[in-house]
Amino acid sequence: MQGEPLPMFPPVYSVEHPNNSRNKSQESLVMEAFKRHSLGRAHSDKKSPKVEPQKAVTVNMVVESPPVVFYNSPQASSGAIFSGQLQLDVHEPYVTLDMFEMKFLAITSTKKPVHAHCPDCTQQETLVHKWDLVTAPVSLRHGVHTYPFSHLLPGHLPATTHGALATLDYYLDAVATMSNGEKITYKRNVDIKRAIFPGNEKHSVRIFPPTNLTASVKLPPVIHPIGDFPIEMRLSGITQNKADSQTRWRLRKLNWRIEETQKFVAPACSKHTAKVGGEGKGILHDDVRLIANEEVKTGWKSDFTEGNIECEFRAACNVALKPLCDMETATGMSVKHNLIIEMVVAEEWAPLKKPNQATPTGAARVLRTQFHLHVTERSGMGISWDEEQPPVYEDVPASPPTYMKELDLASVDDAPPLL
Ligand SMILES: [Zn+2]
Repeated sequence: MQGEPLPMFPPVYSVEHPNNSRNKSQESLVMEAFKRHSLGRAHSDKKSPKVEPQKAVTVNMVVESPPVVFYNSPQASSGAIFSGQLQLDVHEPYVTLDMFEMKFLAITSTKKPVHAHCPDCTQQETLVHKWDLVTAPVSLRHGVHTYPFSHLLPGHLPATTHGALATLDYYLDAVATMSNGEKITYKRNVDIKRAIFPGNEKHSVRIFPPTNLTASVKLPPVIHPIGDFPIEMRLSGITQNKADSQTRWRLRKLNWRIEETQKFVAPACSKHTAKVGGEGKGILHDDVRLIANEEVKTGWKSDFTEGNIECEFRAACNVALKPLCDMETATGMSVKHNLIIEMVVAEEWAPLKKPNQATPTGAARVLRTQFHLHVTERSGMGISWDEEQPPVYEDVPASPPTYMKELDLASVDDAPPLL
């Protein structure tokens, strides 16, 4: 399936890539790319049995800012300050440093590249920010020299995501170039999280033609990968009265499930654009998985006088399945969630004078409807740099209910008779 042209980040920065194979994890591919790129001793290469001679200069980093958490939606987030110090430790009496720079990179890797085994199709890098710490030769004495850095990371950046189709990671990549041409490198992964403040509850209405049944559902505006959440539902229009009798729907079965939909538009590198029909196009992949499901056995009340069924239950993602948070990038990577509620209702008939003497008519229906669930990290994991500003809510409570838009999501099927 071929996607529409999509805006792509220009590749501002290119690294030499290893010959990667599909069965390696994306994390290790990224690390290998870094190792290969680095001319100095690979920082994370612990397997090497050789003890290399001490370099004239080593680079280290102290991060001073709290873990990066963007509050609110990409449109409303004020971002997060990232700050720290790069430490250049000179082990010789004097060295001359020609250049010292650091890049903040966003790296997207896919498990489904347009051209198999092509590193440029597999991985894309985007420069988020660059610090020019030393731009002209400078002589440094023995000892530790510190270079503070800071940047307000823009709040629209998508959060670090490790999905089934693609991963998005952020890295700091510092390079010190000595006067003899030697390059000392330092790499560090930076995890970016997003937390959306819970606002007002979401109210949605679904109708189930041709029946008279209507479901009004109250859901939290956001949910979290860990922890349960309440769902309140009222099914109305369950009774139809005639002169001396009543037909009514009885709820027989209630199930819910949460589906996670991942999408990724795999871009083609300049050599393989022909495979996707031109520049700036890609191949859309999607992956849907179940991250929770349960049958609700109890907890609903039928009121045949009012014609309503009220029910309240709690749902949660299965933590063991490592649910992802909702996210979306400009280049076609996204994660979204849906809550699907399925009800089986059976029809029965009762004389009005003896409403408790009901007889099943044998008719039954399956009512199915779905709601978007926004999965986000819990807020309160860090301190927002602008915490003194009042929070801005992007999601205004849905009022009136949004059922017009999502009407087609409700469905009614004939069910096999339950009795
Ligand atoms: Zn390619």
